[in-house]
Amino acid sequence: MTKFIFVTGGVVSSLGKGLTSASVGMLLEQRGLRVKMQKLDPYINVDPGTMSPYQHGEVYVLDDGSETDLDLGHYERFTNSPLTRDSNYTTGQIYLSVIEKERKGEFLGKTVQVIPHITNEIKRVIQKLASDDTDVVITEIGGTVGDIESQPFLEAIRQFSLDVGKENCLYMHLTLVPYLKAAGELKTKPTQHSVGQLREIGIQPDILVCRTEKTISREDREKIGLFCNVPIDAVIEEKDKDFSIYEVPLSLVHNQLDELIIRKLRLEAESLDLDRWHDLMHRLRNPEHEIAIAVVGKYAEHRDAYKSIYEAIDHAGIHHRAQIRIASIQSEQVESEGPERTLAGYDGILVPGGFGERGIEGKVEAIRFARERNIPYFGICLGMQCAAIEYARNVVGLTSAHSSEFDRNSEHHVICLLDEQQNVTDMGGTMRLGAQPAVLDKESNAFRCYGDTEIQERHRHRYEFNNQYRQQFAAHGMMFGGLSPDGGLVEIIEIPEHAWFVAVQFHPEFKSKPTCAHPLFAGFVGAAIQRRQLKSERVQEELDHAKQIDS
Ligand code: GLN
Repeated sequence: MTKFIFVTGGVVSSLGKGLTSASVGMLLEQRGLRVKMQKLDPYINVDPGTMSPYQHGEVYVLDDGSETDLDLGHYERFTNSPLTRDSNYTTGQIYLSVIEKERKGEFLGKTVQVIPHITNEIKRVIQKLASDDTDVVITEIGGTVGDIESQPFLEAIRQFSLDVGKENCLYMHLTLVPYLKAAGELKTKPTQHSVGQLREIGIQPDILVCRTEKTISREDREKIGLFCNVPIDAVIEEKDKDFSIYEVPLSLVHNQLDELIIRKLRLEAESLDLDRWHDLMHRLRNPEHEIAIAVVGKYAEHRDAYKSIYEAIDHAGIHHRAQIRIASIQSEQVESEGPERTLAGYDGILVPGGFGERGIEGKVEAIRFARERNIPYFGICLGMQCAAIEYARNVVGLTSAHSSEFDRNSEHHVICLLDEQQNVTDMGGTMRLGAQPAVLDKESNAFRCYGDTEIQERHRHRYEFNNQYRQQFAAHGMMFGGLSPDGGLVEIIEIPEHAWFVAVQFHPEFKSKPTCAHPLFAGFVGAAIQRRQLKSERVQEELDHAKQIDS
């Protein structure tokens, strides 16, 4: 019988519910349980695919092509839970399917209402994940308790325990215990209020996970327990982690959260095996190299916009035992100040995916700088398209080259709309999405990284490399390192003469894990480390040389 854990959040947003849910999933898996993860988002957009990164951060793409919330990235990085379209639902999707059923007459003339029709639909999508080979479903409810939008979801999870039995459900509530400097103490009142709101709608949390910057005393935990009607051993402290997010699961184990869940849900679990996680932490704490990577994008000030990119760079750092300083650089700054001022001193340059014209010229400049200075370059999606534009303009000699996404009048559209996109007018869920195969050239750098000629990577784009220009590019030294199996679409471009110049039409960042870095990120970071080493050797040689002259 599948058991259900519901994760809610109170007091404020951005408490790290996704990270905590992912950590719980990971710990249960490491205790031999089969886990499925799910996120329910209270906003009305059908999926985040049409939302601005400023509003929502990155759109995380799954193998099946669904465009989902970035918390699913945490789930995939921490657990082995298979994620699909069923792993992320929004209010928009829930209403859409209820309204479609109503139009088909499925409600037989009844008035369609939030309770029971919307709540039934929510319960259906949760129950959908239960199966013979699933021990635990972890469902995270987005938003904060008290929001109008989240009410139907909270009502649905309340009812859920009546349907499947109280003993098969566990409610875990994340709250904030803020430290007030003026008073010099931690405050438990916001937690009391948010649990009060949950209890008003009939949900008594079983476990409270208290986010805090300072250690919560036993006395304060007792107080929280008393006022929130939770035993003290179920008041778990989750302190801020300044060093790494990968410490979170370890601190939860320290506070025996895994044990508590297993006991409360009467799960049959094995003893905890955290060897790989400890190894990861050991690598993080004992770096042997130090490098700096510049990520040149359009949303540099918004860390969530390129979440998986930053994570994947970190994973490659863990792989190579390298401490990596990642600098987010606004591409418009490269435009206004020039690449020398903004990019000199970095050991690698990465241009991530994106949409819209703003900052394109800065990205093209950054790529030119990387190409001409032999600095390792990694282009992803738009970063590949910009690399093609740069090469066309500055190497092939097509000075007006552009993408038809940005300049309809250019004579040379080296990047053009995919054929299948010609008649697409709807914006939601209509790009070339999800896992697609590619075949690699055995001479390519990409092949050296993957060690395989056949790969599957996730996509999210409407534009592609224009095949009319393939020959011209090849004649000027560009290599097409990966193609779709029918040869029709360019998936990877490379400059073999360069230290490391690989640009890909897909999004490898979605398949990187802390315990298993993505091969291309590992290759890129490896090349950056090599560059740094060569540079310091050269500096040393010059110093030695100068000394010799002196003496
Ligand atoms: N805007 C480009 C396209 O649609 C690139 C998309 C991306 O970087 N994800 O093809």
